[in-house]
Amino acid sequence: MEIKTGVYICHCGINIANTVDVEHLVEAAKGWDTVAVAREYKFLCSDPGQEIIKKDIKELGLNRVVVASCSPRMHERTFRNACQQAGLNPYLFEMANIREHCSWVHSDKELATKKAEALLRAAVRRVFYHEPLETKESPVSPNTLIVGGGIAGIQAALEIADSEHKVYLVERDPSIGGHMTQLDKTFPTLDCSQCILTPKMALVGSHPYIELMTYSEVEEVSGFVGSFKVKIRKKARYVDEDKCTGCGLCQEKCPWKVDSEYNAGLGKRKAIYTPFPQAVPNIPVIDKEHCAYFLKGTCRACEKFCDIKAINFEQVDQIVEVGVGSIILTTGYDVFNPSAIAQYGYGKYDNVITGLEFERMSSATGPTGGEIRLKDGRQPKSVAIIHCVGSRDKNYHEYCSRVCCMYGLKFSHLIKEKIPDADVYQMYIDMRCFGEGYEEFYKRLCEEGVNFIRGKVARVTDRAISDEEKGKLIVQCEDTLLASLMRVPVDMVILCVALEARADAERVARMFNISRRADGFFLERHVKLDPVATPTDGVFIAGCCQAPKDIPDTVAQASAAAARALAVISKGKVILEASVATVNEALCQGCGRCEELCEFHAPKVSRKNGQLPVSTINEALCKGCGACAVFCPTGAISVKHFTRDQILAEVEALIEV
Ligand SMILES: Cc1cc2nc3c(=O)[nH]c(=O)nc-3n(C[C@H](O)[C@H](O)[C@H](O)COP(=O)(O)OP(=O)(O)OC[C@H]3O[C@@H](n4cnc5c(N)ncnc54)[C@H](O)[C@@H]3O)c2cc1C
Ligand code: SF4
Ligand code: SF4
Repeated sequence: MEIKTGVYICHCGINIANTVDVEHLVEAAKGWDTVAVAREYKFLCSDPGQEIIKKDIKELGLNRVVVASCSPRMHERTFRNACQQAGLNPYLFEMANIREHCSWVHSDKELATKKAEALLRAAVRRVFYHEPLETKESPVSPNTLIVGGGIAGIQAALEIADSEHKVYLVERDPSIGGHMTQLDKTFPTLDCSQCILTPKMALVGSHPYIELMTYSEVEEVSGFVGSFKVKIRKKARYVDEDKCTGCGLCQEKCPWKVDSEYNAGLGKRKAIYTPFPQAVPNIPVIDKEHCAYFLKGTCRACEKFCDIKAINFEQVDQIVEVGVGSIILTTGYDVFNPSAIAQYGYGKYDNVITGLEFERMSSATGPTGGEIRLKDGRQPKSVAIIHCVGSRDKNYHEYCSRVCCMYGLKFSHLIKEKIPDADVYQMYIDMRCFGEGYEEFYKRLCEEGVNFIRGKVARVTDRAISDEEKGKLIVQCEDTLLASLMRVPVDMVILCVALEARADAERVARMFNISRRADGFFLERHVKLDPVATPTDGVFIAGCCQAPKDIPDTVAQASAAAARALAVISKGKVILEASVATVNEALCQGCGRCEELCEFHAPKVSRKNGQLPVSTINEALCKGCGACAVFCPTGAISVKHFTRDQILAEVEALIEV
């Protein structure tokens, strides 16, 4: 069959046309074998632009199409659809990226045009070898897995469950709630964190469409969008969930105390514990690492006092397997450990504390019942709040953590509310109050008698050089507005620590086959246009696992991720990639290297009807990544749409320059 290729070059407004000579490309393409028509247009992705291509396919009988424009990531689907609408198989299309690869990265018009011509010629040569391919469909499981039960996971779970689709919500801790349960009041509205969160937690706990698995972790994930298989480890609580009434007697009687994680180490909990009174579920767990019975073989006080016999020391971990169509990761953040910045004295001075520790101290449910106290029990009369601890700092995290200016301001208000005559100092680099009502909150604080010092703190010390400084912590800093060095003596220092990626983010990312950014947070598919999707179809992200953010943004993102999961469910089927690996059985030796290599578990080596072993590709699992094709020692595997002929034609055209 005669190959008739249509070549279309886009100006992209002036994005391409300013640096690449589009008319020259058209004239050059007209002279190439197989090119039946070459045209240019201002915006090929527009409806009139696509119409030009469709009309040519129909009227000139084109059987190949090449568009030279932007990245295939942006518009490959647009042009493939246009081809399909005109009756041409969408895989008979090829795209040359002359914007990101030429006009945006070069300034010399002549050289940029030369490179664009080479890329265009390579696409025309390659498309000659393209073959029509057919996509396949696969059914979708209507269930969703959500990993992480902070506010992001809770919001996403309720959105999906309220539309009567099943959700498995997996939370590592004994209760859902995440960091929001530890906060006192929330900026900028100052509503009590627990008051707005616990109703949602209770709804999750009783929702008929949510299967809550706390004290659990995902161990293994396989499959693909629409059909994931997930293994979850439900850790032994040593308490029978069906019998326990949550009366709390076991916790009262347990003689063993350890630091409470919930109270950020400021208070104690027992070896058998529920993290906080409103925990969901309200069922305790025995912390095996601190329980006297597990450590020394004696005690069992909890068992003796539990009348309904809910304590069960024989309980073992369970592995539960579930099938889901989509996965939403909402695993949140860790807070930066400021002992890394030795000059701020965290861990050295009793009254240097972190923001999270202050939240627990200020909260009515905290270890001091909401009283702001120094280590020796006195009320502080002066407090310094240091911003950007571990954020905006080349030595730790270069990014801005986005919430600490605001929570630092919130702390000023909370201190002034409880100790009106206290001197409060905000020591900041820039005040970043960008959200709704944030600037107004800042203005309000300025009127509450808070002192603002603009400059980075150099050190916190207890070395007094005057009577006024004796017995105090002295904050040494520069006030850049007054251009003067300062020593500010205070009773308490609060460090506004950075939000950072979870310590196990790399392991989690690998398990769900997603990527991380250089700063460690999970990477979205497109920062502007696809912010809750990931490069792995059917795996979405929301909340602080994607980047530091406040509660309003976390909730908005969680709702967006839920909408994406619901869209997968409502479609009812997924289209499987047509560009998958195939095996030439005559060449395959059945060595199994492809099976070992493929991270999607697509190849399987087996004996068909007692013959020699050969590899077969499960097309539903194959992502067309090509790893097996590269490593197959006999060259038996090739990937459709990336065949040897296609790649070599492209390379040859490029090196002709
Ligand atoms: C000191 C401080 C004060 C703040 N004050 C405010 C405020 O006043 N207003 C405001 O808007 N924002 C505030 N924030 C920000 C707020 O905490 C976050 O926006 C919010 O908590 C993000 O929720 P999340 O669900 O994304 O993450 P998290 O709250 O971190 O929840 C993540 C959950 O996932 C679980 N998890 C983690 N890994 C796994 C795993 N592998 N498997 C299963 N479960 C897992 C965790 O146990 C946790 O329950 C503050 C932050 C700090 C540090
Ligand atoms: S057996 Fe363990 S959990 Fe139970 S009361 Fe004793 S120390 Fe506490
Ligand atoms: S939010 Fe404010 S305190 Fe936090 S890192 Fe950004 S600028 Fe610094």
